[in-house]
Amino acid sequence: MRRPAKGEPRERETQLARLVLGLRTQGVSDPAVLAAIEKTPRDLFTPDLFKDRSWEDSALPIACGQTISQPYIVGLMTQALTLEPRARVLEIGTGSGYQTAVLARLSRLVYTVERYRTLMREAEARFEALQLTNVITRFGDGFLGWAEQAPFDRILVTAAAPEEPKTLLDQLKPSGVLVAPVGKGPVQKLIRYAGDGAGGFAKEVLCDVRFVPLLQGVAREP
Ligand code: SAH
Repeated sequence: MRRPAKGEPRERETQLARLVLGLRTQGVSDPAVLAAIEKTPRDLFTPDLFKDRSWEDSALPIACGQTISQPYIVGLMTQALTLEPRARVLEIGTGSGYQTAVLARLSRLVYTVERYRTLMREAEARFEALQLTNVITRFGDGFLGWAEQAPFDRILVTAAAPEEPKTLLDQLKPSGVLVAPVGKGPVQKLIRYAGDGAGGFAKEVLCDVRFVPLLQGVAREP
């Protein structure tokens, strides 16, 4: 029997199954989250130069000096959000759109904001190819959130906020959950804020992470 070549559907399925197994052994245990990752072909989100590394559990460079997140971190953050199928989710930092695609499989609507027009357009093409019709994109400054669509059930920030993201917390429902890397240095704390239903938050530090920083304003591109 002929072995399927790299990139062929069967090869991709095997790689995805292997990736998911690895995440499970590292503590991503929510079956719905693992299934969403298994359904999301990461090689569609990586640049040509790094295609053959799509199945590694590591962050990789993408255009505009940004990165596609490490699958383990995607699993961890998605699990920490405790998504429900009816949830309206805000994501800050679309990047490649990989995390967005995973969120889209687990929620009703995903609003995602990116400050690079190039990345936004590339991500939009991927959502279309995957027929993810419940993703709404916006080119803009994620520091401001998306006031017109607030409040959200869940908010995920995929770039490091220098300090507690107050504007975004204000756009969360009283019992909502926000997950964000917070810190000014190269290593940040991944923090889960869970609304107590009365305007306050329970704050939980999940682990150390390394994210590119959340930057003010939209990016100027040539
Ligand atoms: N989850 C993405 C990670 C992308 S890296 C993925 O897996 O591909 C973080 C992204 O946040 C970058 O694309 C960066 O441009 C974006 N970003 C940084 N500051 C931002 C801001 N203020 N508003 C919107 N996007 C921002």
